[in-house]
Amino acid sequence: MSDVRILIVGGGLAGCTVAKALEDAGRGDDVLVIDPDRHAPYDRPPLTKAFLGAEDGLTQRPPWAPTSVAWRADCVVAVDLATRTARTASGGVITAETIVLAAGSLARTLPGRDGRALTVRTADDARRVRDLRRAGAQRFLIEGAGPLGLELASTLASDGADVTVVDPATAPMERLLGGALANEVAGWAQAGGVRLLLDAKVVHVALRSDGGAVEVMRSDGTPELFDCMITAVGSVPAPLMLIGPAGPVGAAVVDDRRRLVDVDGTVFPGIYSAGDLPFHRDVNRTLSRSESWTAARVDGEAVVRDLLGEEPVAAPVPYFWTRQFGRMVQVLGTIPLGADVHLLAEVPKTGGSLYQATHGGAVVAYVGVNAQRLVAMLQTQPGPVADWAPPEG
Ligand SMILES: Cc1cc2nc3c(=O)[nH]c(=O)nc-3n(C[C@H](O)[C@H](O)[C@H](O)COP(=O)(O)OP(=O)(O)OC[C@H]3O[C@@H](n4cnc5c(N)ncnc54)[C@H](O)[C@@H]3O)c2cc1C
Repeated sequence: MSDVRILIVGGGLAGCTVAKALEDAGRGDDVLVIDPDRHAPYDRPPLTKAFLGAEDGLTQRPPWAPTSVAWRADCVVAVDLATRTARTASGGVITAETIVLAAGSLARTLPGRDGRALTVRTADDARRVRDLRRAGAQRFLIEGAGPLGLELASTLASDGADVTVVDPATAPMERLLGGALANEVAGWAQAGGVRLLLDAKVVHVALRSDGGAVEVMRSDGTPELFDCMITAVGSVPAPLMLIGPAGPVGAAVVDDRRRLVDVDGTVFPGIYSAGDLPFHRDVNRTLSRSESWTAARVDGEAVVRDLLGEEPVAAPVPYFWTRQFGRMVQVLGTIPLGADVHLLAEVPKTGGSLYQATHGGAVVAYVGVNAQRLVAMLQTQPGPVADWAPPEG
């Protein structure tokens, strides 16, 4: 006999999507969510945007407060996949009929940054940066010109801080935009008052004894002083020990139905994983994680569908958005490195643009910059991006 029917490890977007849908289906009494974050559940995207820049409280989309779902503040440290038993940091042992692993990810750090550079993943992380700024920190170094790094730069610079962004890549948001639109993005950052140093990296970080400032040596040998350094170089799956019948399982890998599978693709019965945590295997058997709000929601919905015995639906085209320097940037599809990205339409009303990305002769993605209406029109089309008709008007 299990302690609970459905244990959800992690009350972020993926976990809450599952818990809320089960509650809506009248199954809330079956569910226990465990999460160590004292503020959870809340939405992460505002942490580098509105929440960082103003005294906003934490928000959640869609708003949800558990009524019949049980919620426990604790941290799951290990899960035995065969017996479906979870062990928690406080010494708890919980067996469940079904376990949903939705522990998300942690900010990736780099060697030599411990105690010297901050990261922003949680509400407390964002609050720390905001408090430093309010206490007078003026010079910020952001390591990483990805969406999060540029959002941090945008918010801090618009608050009057001196912001430098450094990245060894030659184009900003290279992983998201495949190296395209580099001049455009660099232009927004520059116009927003941000110093963008590409093709450069931090090789040494030292804490100064005089007031906690950070001294940074760049690869070109230039030493510089900052009040605060933030490392924003992506994320790694949350550490969670998974024990299979044959020993530790290195990583959470899921199939299309978000069921946990081993290296051979054999399903661990009753174990699902959703959101930032698990790896998905593509047609070439390459493993990758999706680190986007929409993917976490889609994953959670897929888990619920399977749990309720409903037919799976085709995965939607990947979608990511970032708001920075007064622009809403939306990417529909995936842009490989070296793809050709060209302007498809301009939106005079918003000063926006819609770009189309092609690779190997096929359309692989669309990028909207302040072009929400056109992106919304594209999103109504079924099937892969390659089959979509470009929007008119
Ligand atoms: C600052 C920031 C800004 C972002 N902005 C955007 C954006 O603009 N657009 C976009 O598409 N995406 C954005 N994202 C990404 C998006 O928010 C994530 O992809 C999404 O939150 C993933 O949801 P999740 O539920 O998988 O993980 P999370 O939201 O990380 O939730 C995981 C939960 O699990 C809990 N947990 C961790 N370990 C354990 C454990 N061992 N036991 C129990 N619980 C545990 C955590 O406390 C957390 O509450 C942003 C992310 C961040 C951090």
